[in-house]
Amino acid sequence: MSTGKEFAPPDATPPQADPIAHARDLVDYAASLDCIHCGLCISSCPTYRISGRESASPRGRIHLMRAAAESRVEADADFAEEMDYCLVCRNCESVCPAGVQFGRMMELTRDGLESRRQRKLSARLARWLGFRIVLPSRLALRLVGTLTRLMQVTGLARMFAPALGAAGRALQSLPALPPARERALLPARNRGLRNTGDSDARPALFMLEGCAQPELFGHVNRSTVDALCAAGHDVHVARAVCCGALHAHNGELDQARQLARIYVQEWVRSCAAEGAELIPITNASGCGAHLREYGELLAGDAQCGADAARFSALVRDWSELLSPRIADGSLKLTAPTNVSGPVAWDDPCHLCHGQGVREDPRVLLKAIPGLEQVELHDSESCCGSAGIYSLLRPADGAAILAPKLETLANSGARTLVTSNPGCQMQWLAGIRSKGMDVRVVHLAELVQPTQRT
Ligand code: SF4
Ligand code: SF4
Repeated sequence: MSTGKEFAPPDATPPQADPIAHARDLVDYAASLDCIHCGLCISSCPTYRISGRESASPRGRIHLMRAAAESRVEADADFAEEMDYCLVCRNCESVCPAGVQFGRMMELTRDGLESRRQRKLSARLARWLGFRIVLPSRLALRLVGTLTRLMQVTGLARMFAPALGAAGRALQSLPALPPARERALLPARNRGLRNTGDSDARPALFMLEGCAQPELFGHVNRSTVDALCAAGHDVHVARAVCCGALHAHNGELDQARQLARIYVQEWVRSCAAEGAELIPITNASGCGAHLREYGELLAGDAQCGADAARFSALVRDWSELLSPRIADGSLKLTAPTNVSGPVAWDDPCHLCHGQGVREDPRVLLKAIPGLEQVELHDSESCCGSAGIYSLLRPADGAAILAPKLETLANSGARTLVTSNPGCQMQWLAGIRSKGMDVRVVHLAELVQPTQRT
């Protein structure tokens, strides 16, 4: 739990002549002025709900940012703690009448804080390994995945985790990794099903496999591609690895820009080779929200700023491709055999708040024949995963998930459906800790289109 100090009353001290110059690398001062202090966001903020402290609310954090820019508070350890305590879930953006872009503000502030922090050598090494070496490299991810599975299968993970500190906690929070054949990458090109004389061509897609998804839940990517191909889409699978969302959320904006460039450049090459504009898609909500920000992230980049803006404008969640077809009756789904009991959908934050996608997954679930569904109260509140938040702050992540676990237990659902690998992991860990008999699946595992006739 945060120990950040309470903030000063608004406008206690007049701003400096040039407040932006004072902390231009720490605070988006102009954006902080968009906040009208109405407080409508406060009760929707998970960290405020847990702590009851204004300084742990969106309004409080914006006030702290502004006060730091105006030299009324120091960007010290207490300030950093309040920023770190935030999940960047963007729930506050959904309710804000002034359109405050809180997620972007927080990314800038964390990036500015990173250059001011005095981290221990071990922490610096862990961040360098994670952000620079492992996440951007398929080879390194494969190595880590294989070693982790080996440790899980032999019981070494359970034996050594307590002695490994934060790394051990991360190891224990992982689900059982699948065997190598399930973690194999998808073919670069997957052809959509078409009937003879079919004039109804579907747009070709450019799909991000992601960094963690292939190692943790490889079958989810396979199911997604199968569903989209069955619906008639050609699916090109990107060879770029990490989209940079975790970097952007954790104070590594330069590296996030570098990864964004790699991904946009591959998309441009693929479009040229195909002779058509491919639609970038993803099945991981956190990545999708970040891909939609590439235009902003690379604004002013002479080499690929314009391509990034075009790319971002085209990004879709995979469910958005299929739900209109359900609605117009041109696509039907079959009953899955791999699901039991009532199912409940939990909105990933970066799908509902980050991308504004709320209805499409529900349309797909409702179209599955014979599937009993229950609504989860407060399904748009954060589960506490928030990228690597639950690894860095396991107690806070668990406290934020706790009321949602209770809601799930009261709903009677036997299957929890979501669409983000981090959320899947967080739910799995929470359900396991409570000894509940509830399965956790990605939406793509349940959506199986009938082949067109
Ligand atoms: S992003 Fe989420 S945790 Fe952070 S201030 Fe907004 S609602 Fe609260
Ligand atoms: S809802 Fe928006 S304008 Fe109102 S206090 Fe929160 S961030 Fe500021």
